[in-house]
Amino acid sequence: MKTTQTGGARTRAVIYCRISQDRTGAGLGVDRQREDCEALAERMGWDVVEVYVDNDVSAFSGKLRKDYRRMLADLDDGKATVVIVWHTDRLTRSIVELEEYIELSDRRGIATHTVQAGTIDLATPSGRMTARILGAVARQESEHKGHRVARARQQKAMAGEWAGGIRPFGWGVPTGETKKKVDRKTGEETEAPELDMAKVVPDEAEALRFWVDEILSGASLRSLVKWCADKGITTTRGNPVTHVELRDMLMRPRNAGIAVYKGEEVGRGKWEPIVDEAKHRAVVAILMDPARKTTPGAAPKWLGSLLYRCGRGDCTGYVTVTQSGGRRYPSYKCPTGHGGGRRAEVVDQYVEDTIVERLEKPDAHELLEPAPEGVDVAALQAEGEQIRARMRDLGGLFGAGELELAPFTEGMETARAQLDGVTRQLARAVTADPLAGLVGAPDVRAAWKALELDRKRAVLRSLVEVTLRTPRPGRMPDGGYFDYEAVVFQWKRATRS
Ligand SMILES: [Zn+2]
Repeated sequence: MKTTQTGGARTRAVIYCRISQDRTGAGLGVDRQREDCEALAERMGWDVVEVYVDNDVSAFSGKLRKDYRRMLADLDDGKATVVIVWHTDRLTRSIVELEEYIELSDRRGIATHTVQAGTIDLATPSGRMTARILGAVARQESEHKGHRVARARQQKAMAGEWAGGIRPFGWGVPTGETKKKVDRKTGEETEAPELDMAKVVPDEAEALRFWVDEILSGASLRSLVKWCADKGITTTRGNPVTHVELRDMLMRPRNAGIAVYKGEEVGRGKWEPIVDEAKHRAVVAILMDPARKTTPGAAPKWLGSLLYRCGRGDCTGYVTVTQSGGRRYPSYKCPTGHGGGRRAEVVDQYVEDTIVERLEKPDAHELLEPAPEGVDVAALQAEGEQIRARMRDLGGLFGAGELELAPFTEGMETARAQLDGVTRQLARAVTADPLAGLVGAPDVRAAWKALELDRKRAVLRSLVEVTLRTPRPGRMPDGGYFDYEAVVFQWKRATRS
């Protein structure tokens, strides 16, 4: 055992605490975790040399835990030989993390003690298996079975009760009753109106549905953040809506009436849904798409930056707009540096004119993507439900020791891939064609002009690929210096004729 005292030297232990959103059971505040761990150290006669604390509000999100990484580095340095945690679900959040932890424990002879589950000797195969099972159970099970508190919380989650304290955007209508509220800092008691979290706030519901439809027709989060600011729409705490908050609000399964417990979908909630489930899943798929830039970086100011292709020589890279190098005007230029730029304003005007002209043609309606035929949204949703149930079953089997690690992970990966496919199908069924508002408009040019830049970019992206080839030198036959023929259009959609 690594935990016994030898030659008068006390065993050095570290404590790891993590605050997470899943405040299971005995109110797992960090103070409580720490106290329990310290008591265990004292009973065992260990010296606690360091306490690591991570604040990780989204469990399983894969977010980097700073103190956890620092602890692993310290353990690798030989700082301690014992790790104390409240429960293994505080320690590792995924099988990958667990395997890394096991490897380190094995190499450095580190013993892990938990307040809840006793000692886990990761140096032995049975200890490792225990840890893997505990990890898998924490990850896959939506509750610690038989845990009354957890069960009560799950029931509350299903009933749509909001445990978080902050009212979810879209719900919470005053019942007329009031309840006493104690300020945690001052201990002051105040009367607060009681809210019915199953009831929809009409204005907020309308905003939520508007955002969903906008995202489905190609709008960016950025433009919706601006919309909120313009309309004076705030978070339920009265703060301006930021990019991150808007994304969170749109990703909430609650919007579609889906109950979630500990990060897992557990069924239908009892509250009034605001958004159609298919639309909700499509929005989530769009916002999760790695190809979509989700960071709130600088808004593109030009129609074609990162959308037009370079086209000089064999280059197929995308151009960006720059005014560096003594240029008098902002110009599209390939970041790899070859060749001169093309004046951005002139290129964009030409591209916009060409798109409008195309959409004004009598056969333009044929460019519209037909609504996906034969997509049975209800059947897709049912299939998704089945896959999610299978994932829960797999977790249960693995947790009960009836399934080995390899078939378990394999089964989960297959299920996840299938679920991805179903979600993509659903997204296609409800996503609006970016061209829809333009084709058939009484004044196509005016309709185009009225679009925000990100919507124009969505149209461009789906309709045509523009390549900026090397322009001919000197004066053009039209008397000007801009070589329009070097701007090449490749239409992505064809008419039937
Ligand atoms: Zn290039």
